[in-house]
Amino acid sequence: MNDDRTALEKELLGIEKLTSTLEPESLQFKEWVSQAHQYAEDFMEHTDNGPAWIPYLPGSLSWDQDLLLSEGPSSLDEFLASPIMRPAHPGLNPASGGHLGYIPGGGVLPAAIGDFLAAVTNRYAGIAFADPGAVAMEHSLVRWMTELFGFPPEAGGTLTSGGSIANLVAITAARDASGLKPSQWERATIYGSSQMHHCIHKALRIAGLGHSILREVPLDEEFRIRPDRLREMIDQDKQAGLIPLMIIGSAGTTDTGVVDPLDIMADIAEEGSIWFHVDGAYGGFFYLLDSMRSALRGIERADSLVIDPHKGLFLPYGTGAVLLRDVQLLASSQHYQANYMQDARKSGLGLSPADLSPELTRHFRGLRMFLPLKIFGIQAFRACLWEKVLLCRLFHREVAALGFETGPEPMLSVTRFRWVPRSGEPNHWNQRLISEIHSDGRIFLSSTTLNGEVWIRFAALSFRTKMTHVRTALQMLTEIKERIHASPPIAE
Ligand SMILES: *Cc1c(COP(=O)(O)O)cnc(C)c1O
Repeated sequence: MNDDRTALEKELLGIEKLTSTLEPESLQFKEWVSQAHQYAEDFMEHTDNGPAWIPYLPGSLSWDQDLLLSEGPSSLDEFLASPIMRPAHPGLNPASGGHLGYIPGGGVLPAAIGDFLAAVTNRYAGIAFADPGAVAMEHSLVRWMTELFGFPPEAGGTLTSGGSIANLVAITAARDASGLKPSQWERATIYGSSQMHHCIHKALRIAGLGHSILREVPLDEEFRIRPDRLREMIDQDKQAGLIPLMIIGSAGTTDTGVVDPLDIMADIAEEGSIWFHVDGAYGGFFYLLDSMRSALRGIERADSLVIDPHKGLFLPYGTGAVLLRDVQLLASSQHYQANYMQDARKSGLGLSPADLSPELTRHFRGLRMFLPLKIFGIQAFRACLWEKVLLCRLFHREVAALGFETGPEPMLSVTRFRWVPRSGEPNHWNQRLISEIHSDGRIFLSSTTLNGEVWIRFAALSFRTKMTHVRTALQMLTEIKERIHASPPIAE
């Protein structure tokens, strides 16, 4: 017996040398932090002076050497110097102010400090019983957002990893609040537009509504939902014995940056007792600007609203938000029961993030959102959003002056343009244009197709985007335009 015990203790003592390497000495930790800080400095310098996009040939990429794992330890410094970590790496630099494609955001630095401290402390932000402070922080951020949109006191919501999951959570709550049984889902109708974000189609499918009837409401000439047609469709569907379940509006579409007529859509939803969901992942935070509220009117009447702090609040990727007009509907959609959670249930601290989201254990997500707002103050965010509106107006005006065809005056901070050549197929010309933009890389833009026409998009939402980026974009377009004119694309 005694021999057994000594053997066990001996083995434990023997293994400690290796197991305690997972807890570095304080000096070692300091060194790592300083190496990471040096890396961040180099990266910021590259971001300030380097391109937004670095072109690459898929066949030329090989990181196998960098990605080898081994039984023994390696040095952080060496790894940070490896090709896969190079500040100038192939592909997009989303931290660059020259990222004007898709929907940018940037990544404000105090959020990185927030992530760092959240990881070091590993606070448990899923359940109030475990960490009332971390949960209070998340709740207060949610409250700040529900109050921004003038939601009633019973509103609430949760921070998610992004807009896609936020839309999924909202759509699932709408499904559950309808009280419809799965056998009725095939007769449920959902009204949206061909311009809504693809993550909504995905969310409907994941939520089991893939066989429900999705109505694409016809659009006006600026790609916004026509409320007269929405009303007609709902009336017809009701007469046909179908069940209108949800109306989905976009507060800022990805392609053209327009806002659906949310206020009239809210009227229609209210008249028909239909759930009104608004996807404001791109445009929602423009509500911080008094001057933009009329463009977004009606967003405050949503039953569920998605906004994306990693877009409109310039956080690094990893933070979305879903807000419910009545938080109880979210709680009953996400409810759970488990014996091993009984202590937490009795805490008397009210709803926790785990009660309002599919996640249980979660990263202390609130800190990366709270710190930037706290440190910079909200006025700096308002100013940056307004700057993006103005930069988009500037680009819109100047690109037209270069002879490009443009879309209408931008509603928020996305606009579009294309070249219409005197002869030849415009789509060939604009495909060539976008590929030349990508091989140049100084500024990154992305393209889309609208009614069969290829357009280039300009999307300003990174806090780092300044007038100089707009100037560089215009300069780059002038040079590329001349180059293409010198050897125009040949029609196939
Ligand atoms: C970005 C975006 C989404 C998806 O959000 P993610 O954060 O990328 O998951 C949904 N809707 C709109 C309008 C968006 O712009």
